[in-house]
Amino acid sequence: MARPMMAPRLAAVRARLAELDADAALLTFLPDIRWAVGFTGSNGILLVTENDAHFLTDGRYQAQANHEVVGAEIHVPGYKLFEFIAERKLLDDSKTCIVQSDHLTVDELDRLRGIVQDVRFEPEPRLLVREVASKSEEEIDKIRAAQTITDAVYGDLLRLIKPGVSEQNIAAEIVYQHLKRGCDRMSFEPIVAAGARGALPHARPSNNQIKQGDMVVIDMGGVKDGYASDMTRTVAVGDPEEEARVVYQIVLDAQNAAIEAARAGMTGRELDQVARSVIEEAGYGEAFSHSLGHGIGLQTHEWPSLSSRTEAKLPLGVAVTIEPGIYLPGKYGVRIEDIVVLTEDGCTNLTASPKELLVL
Ligand code: ZN
Ligand code: ZN
Repeated sequence: MARPMMAPRLAAVRARLAELDADAALLTFLPDIRWAVGFTGSNGILLVTENDAHFLTDGRYQAQANHEVVGAEIHVPGYKLFEFIAERKLLDDSKTCIVQSDHLTVDELDRLRGIVQDVRFEPEPRLLVREVASKSEEEIDKIRAAQTITDAVYGDLLRLIKPGVSEQNIAAEIVYQHLKRGCDRMSFEPIVAAGARGALPHARPSNNQIKQGDMVVIDMGGVKDGYASDMTRTVAVGDPEEEARVVYQIVLDAQNAAIEAARAGMTGRELDQVARSVIEEAGYGEAFSHSLGHGIGLQTHEWPSLSSRTEAKLPLGVAVTIEPGIYLPGKYGVRIEDIVVLTEDGCTNLTASPKELLVL
């Protein structure tokens, strides 16, 4: 039986079907299935028709599905999930069924068409991105809880950041501290990049040792109750050179300007431009080599991207990162990242770690 709490999400899927002039959807993307009916396992598909919803999985997940799934009838046919749809005639009343073209392989679609005949399967990309992007209060609380853990890890980590300590050593502590404080797993492998390595926006932690005068970029996050955190801070180890202080302040000004301007209804491009123009006007436009941020929730990176290519309006309740950076090859990098939730007239910052330049 559907609990009322979950019904709006299946209703949202059905509203998309109406928009697309289809009468069923086969969801194959696990984070969307989790969002729609609550299943957290690693194998399953969800079939939503105008009047029914069917969740199919294999025997490993029988008990888990019974415990977690709400709003859909549960079937455990083993691994032949498409065959089960045909045998039980689950799509017999449907003419057109949407499939998630960005989460179904060409092989799988061919197989599906061969097994379930007399239904037109229509590939559709980004089927539920807008619906998933608008977070409920409950979801926002979960993202905040994850980000609060990351804030605490950061506070604890500072004592470790000193000359002679390797990036890997700090990364190991980041993972240990997140898991110890209750995260299920990491949102992504932590980035710890000291000195010139900080100029590589996605540097992997190496055995490079921190030196006096280094700027150190730390980008990290953990997953708690399915929801991801993501935060970046850049600290100085000993007095940095004058230009590094200036660059740090430009990045912070750009981030503050974007947070000040952020609200639901503006486009991703407009918000990116707020931060980018601060950095461009300071003469470092070329050195801000990535987009301003990304949606976050059940996935660390989800729609929307805050980039010059995003013409879509940012929905009410979306959680996004705001993470401008300046990267000077051969010298250092500076990035500062918070998570904010967009409201009608502004945004709520879920990140508490201080942002003035810390000289350790
Ligand atoms: Zn990050
Ligand atoms: Zn991020």
